[in-house]
Amino acid sequence: MNRSAIMRAVPSRNTSAELKVRAILRTIMTGYRLHRSDIPGKPDIAFVGRRLAIFVHGCFWHGHDCKRGARAPKTNAEYWRAKIERNVARDALHQTALREQGWRALTIWECELSDADLVAVKLRSFIAAPETSVSQRESRALAPRPKARRGERSGLQR
Ligand SMILES: [Zn+2]
Repeated sequence: MNRSAIMRAVPSRNTSAELKVRAILRTIMTGYRLHRSDIPGKPDIAFVGRRLAIFVHGCFWHGHDCKRGARAPKTNAEYWRAKIERNVARDALHQTALREQGWRALTIWECELSDADLVAVKLRSFIAAPETSVSQRESRALAPRPKARRGERSGLQR
């Protein structure tokens, strides 16, 4: 990786990846806040009232499991590896802190932005999805009743 590629990998606000995600998001839901430092991990995008946090992560910088994330600089390889490992560990801590405070978090990876439609689907389902615990309860309620119960019911109808 050359110097300019490394410079591009340094995290910063309002990267082109972030701007792309925000452009897609505007077609789905507005009213988000950017880089709020009072939220764990200072999410790139947050719907504060609904406690939804969205991170836009560069694949190299955040150690994504993809081709771009696997790219390693030849010089100072150990330095970069350690730095990225720290970033990954910090990201995990932020995710835990968010969950503990009742937030849901979504990460959009830089490499995913080659398919804007897919990102739109991901954002839409994230925003629409109820909390996991609720959806589990709902799916149990919607599950077909055991046969014996149905028999009882039809017996009552007679
Ligand atoms: Zn990636």
